[in-house]
Formats: sequence, C-alpha cells, structure tokens
Amino acid sequence: MISKKKEKRPGHKPEWDDLPARRCDNCGRVFKPKQPHQRFDKPTCRFEAKNYGAGYARLKMRMEKNLRSIKAELETNMEARFAKQLEAALKRLHSSAPDGI
Ligand SMILES: [Zn+2]
Repeated sequence: MISKKKEKRPGHKPEWDDLPARRCDNCGRVFKPKQPHQRFDKPTCRFEAKNYGAGYARLKMRMEKNLRSIKAELETNMEARFAKQLEAALKRLHSSAPDGI
C-alpha cells in the first residue's frame, strides 16, 4: 500500500513536527521550519543570503537611512527656499504699497 502522505526526509525527528513558526532571515516572511535551525523559507532566500551575505541586509538598512537623510535635507532646502521667496514677495508688496510701508 502506498501512503498518500509525503515521505519525511531521512533523519527527520518526530519532535520537529511542531516547531514554532519563525521569520525568514532573508525576506522576513513567516514560515514553519522543517528543522530546528532552518533560517530561510525557500532555497532562493538561502541562495541570496549565501551570495550577498550579511552585507545585503546592512546595505538595505544603509540605503533606507540614506534615503531618510536625503529627504530631510530636501525638506530643509525647500523650507529655506520658500522663506526666501516669501521674503522677496513681501518686499515687493511693501514697496508697491501707496504709503510705502
Ligand atoms: Zn525568505
């Protein structure tokens, strides 16, 4: 008789059936590990982590930090530019006023 249930890998231990779900170290997706020290949800993630290593995650974090600082700098520059334009507009308005205020 052939069992319809998928065969377990050789070396599989019954206590591994109820391992708690965890996050993939590469993509962050929640998955149910088949072995106690399984870190990745799929071979692609294992491959990427192997090839790009811990530097990949660091690079991603640095990129996000850099984008935040660029955004803050742009906002500061825009505020300064707006203040300058507002000041110029107010000067023009005052100089064109009939009483010259
Ligand atoms: Zn993953």
